[in-house]
Amino acid sequence: MRGVAVLGSTGSIGVSTLDVLAQHPDRYRVVALTANTGVDKLLEQCLEFRPDYVAMADEQAAKVLSTRLQKLGLDIEVGAGVSGLEAAAAHPQAGSVMAAIVGAAGLAPTLAAVRKGKRILLANKEALVVAGALFMHEVQEHGAEVLPIDSEHNAVFQCMPNNFRDGLGRVGVERILLTASGGPFRTRHSEELETVTPEQACAHPNWDMGRKISVDSATMMNKGLEVIEARWLFDALPDQIQVVVHPQSVIHSMVEYADGSVLAQLGNPDMRTPIAHALAWPERHSSGVSALNLFDIARLDFEAPDTDRFPCLRLAFEAVNAGGIAPAVLNAANEVAVERFLAGEIRFTAIPRIIEQTLAEVVVGDENTLEGLMLADQQARQVAEQQIAVRV
Ligand code: NDP
Repeated sequence: MRGVAVLGSTGSIGVSTLDVLAQHPDRYRVVALTANTGVDKLLEQCLEFRPDYVAMADEQAAKVLSTRLQKLGLDIEVGAGVSGLEAAAAHPQAGSVMAAIVGAAGLAPTLAAVRKGKRILLANKEALVVAGALFMHEVQEHGAEVLPIDSEHNAVFQCMPNNFRDGLGRVGVERILLTASGGPFRTRHSEELETVTPEQACAHPNWDMGRKISVDSATMMNKGLEVIEARWLFDALPDQIQVVVHPQSVIHSMVEYADGSVLAQLGNPDMRTPIAHALAWPERHSSGVSALNLFDIARLDFEAPDTDRFPCLRLAFEAVNAGGIAPAVLNAANEVAVERFLAGEIRFTAIPRIIEQTLAEVVVGDENTLEGLMLADQQARQVAEQQIAVRV
């Protein structure tokens, strides 16, 4: 029986993870769950899965949860704040840790799991975007194992040779082809993008996801963050990563080899497939996802991305090529801009402008330490907020 901690259990990935775990009660036991403020949902999950430990980032919410658990007679320890999340991640009974907190807030708890040498099922791509070098260094140092949950990276992982960590060139890998759906605005004209609403941006054609990643998909920043994530997960040069728009989201990504072979992983767009893959790896078990019907799909299309209409993808490539603190700054400015767009305070097209300006202004921070990266993150948030204040 393998103990699993689910960080961000009340979110889209968290709920899908619990769905897969519930299908295999003979293999897994849920030992820890975490959320930010969603007391009702976390309480429901406590009733169903009876973990040993739960934590909430919001201290007030943790107090409310604790009182309600006591009233129900449930003996579950409750933690609060970042230290509470870290304790859930480092739980001694957890062999695997699903890292599914959204944003840079997931970095510290995920690192706590890394430092305990756990198997990390990594959905929280922002952790690698902010601190890729440091994160991968800690993984090596502590003998942790990282299995990608992002459907594209999970696909790449499945198409890679087992010894890919010896170096892509040495094992005959030429390129990683990351597929992108193109999001809900793939066919919209630039002028139309000026007036799109948060609801339209969150209505993804193929995937049902949390609101932040849905907006990231609409701006194509999601693909940009994924390029940076792939750079670190597979030790690839940015030039070895190509983005391919594939509107059907059936091919989740591909690996091109020196002999001209291209290996692809296909499946229905449902995150329970990569989640089940990473939970069971190197074995396989069911995920609850229906079988792919190629006759229903009938055709697969491919296009080059348009970085004029979707400049966030260009900005992400620029940031990963610049290195240093640039990806952390890109991520922080994006988090601020997306939040303000979702709140209806800025236009969709302001998102890349705010990020570009923030990248130009923030230069302080040491990428070799967590403190230095957090300083860059904080400064970028301030600069992005200042620009929004001027615009609104
Ligand atoms: P959601 O917004 O649906 O869920 C986020 C989770 O994180 C919730 O449990 C939320 O708690 C918690 N949370 C939010 N803010 C904080 C915080 N400051 N501190 C601690 N916990 C917090 O996100 P998704 O599930 O969509 O995405 C999670 C991660 O997975 C992201 O990094 C995303 O990029 C990645 N991902 C998601 C995919 C998807 O299909 N959804 C696909 C591939 C990757 P609460 O409910 O209390 O707010």
